[in-house]
Amino acid sequence: MAPEPPDTVQAKRRRTAEFVDRVVVPAAGSIDREDRIPAAIVRELADERYFGLGIPTEWGGTGETARATVAVLEELARGSAAIAVLVAVHASVCAIPIVDWGTDLQKEQYLRSLARGERLGGFGLTEPGTGSDAAGLRTRYARESDGFVLRGAKMFISNAVSAGVVLVFATRDPALGHRGISAFLVPAGTPGFSVAQRLDKLGLRGSETTELVLDGVRLGPDALLGPEGDGLKVAFRGLAGGRVGIAACALGVAQAAFDAMRENVRRADANWKRSLLARAYADLLGARALVERAAGRKDRGLAYAADASVAKLVASRAAFSIANAGVDVAGEDGTRAGAAAERLLRDARVFPLVEGTTEIQELILARSLLGSGNEPTV
Ligand SMILES: Cc1cc2nc3c(=O)[nH]c(=O)nc-3n(C[C@H](O)[C@H](O)[C@H](O)COP(=O)(O)OP(=O)(O)OC[C@H]3O[C@@H](n4cnc5c(N)ncnc54)[C@H](O)[C@@H]3O)c2cc1C
Repeated sequence: MAPEPPDTVQAKRRRTAEFVDRVVVPAAGSIDREDRIPAAIVRELADERYFGLGIPTEWGGTGETARATVAVLEELARGSAAIAVLVAVHASVCAIPIVDWGTDLQKEQYLRSLARGERLGGFGLTEPGTGSDAAGLRTRYARESDGFVLRGAKMFISNAVSAGVVLVFATRDPALGHRGISAFLVPAGTPGFSVAQRLDKLGLRGSETTELVLDGVRLGPDALLGPEGDGLKVAFRGLAGGRVGIAACALGVAQAAFDAMRENVRRADANWKRSLLARAYADLLGARALVERAAGRKDRGLAYAADASVAKLVASRAAFSIANAGVDVAGEDGTRAGAAAERLLRDARVFPLVEGTTEIQELILARSLLGSGNEPTV
């Protein structure tokens, strides 16, 4: 995709910032407290077309470049990390894999309704016993004359209570390793496909995180996304883009924590607080540069998976260290349940785990630096 002119990116950022200040910021505390994004806000997100983020206009989306996408996600996360993660997962690891790998029929079936927010999208790779080592997943599929049957369970799946479709990964035979894995589009309401539990989390509260059960889920032949056996390619390509988005979400939390810290330092100036503020600013700028670098490389059609890993690694670290310093600067008020500083710290703590842990980003980066190995790892 050709890079968008910087002023278009800025215009999208400004429009989103206005929406976030008006709609999202006032709701952030109750989203966290009640662990739920109100339906009225989901409708507003749909009306403002945020669910079309990055989906090409020919399929009903808003067609943003990666640079504009990260600007929008950062702004959404500045208001509420849960809302940003809802949009990021929906767009980057469900809708975009359909754009990248789908047949025209699959695109027609899913993309327009995803772009309108009539369906929300999920991504089902992680399992109760398998996270980082995705090639070791255990959910099985069998071929039948009229399609496929899936059996297994998925864990930590975002958006899945509300999702209209989940991109699910399953293996024909675990002994085949990554070559046995395929990707399937599983629409909500398919018999045998259900949410077993919704998980209560430290942070990103409001973002649904669930365990899914696939108990003899029958799918037609057109449920297969991409070639059979290429499931991990579908997953990893989606996750590379997804990590740029998650890095942008972490950056938004870092920005929110920085803004709050600056206000606190203004009110109660002290040298040690000034030092923390200056350090936070340096961390913020460094993280932003890396997020924009990864997005820029993606827009220019260059390899960007390692850049996505660095961006996620550094942005999630920056979010945590700025939010942590924010609690120090806020003093005892910052530690009270429900205080913004406390919520931002809990949200920041979860980013290193989402879409591949920090250690896995380090492995991907080291492999890229040493030019070795193509073994897929989340
Ligand atoms: C809020 C949230 C939302 C999520 N949403 C989704 C989603 O929508 N879809 C989805 O599929 N998954 C999702 N996940 C799952 C997430 O991607 C996994 O938690 C992550 O991949 C780690 O898997 P695990 O928890 O099983 O940890 P494990 O893989 O068991 O890892 C445990 C620890 O060991 C480390 N480790 C593992 N392997 C290595 C290695 N080879 N070298 C060094 N260290 C290693 C890890 O870094 C980690 O610290 C979500 C997780 C969270 C917390």
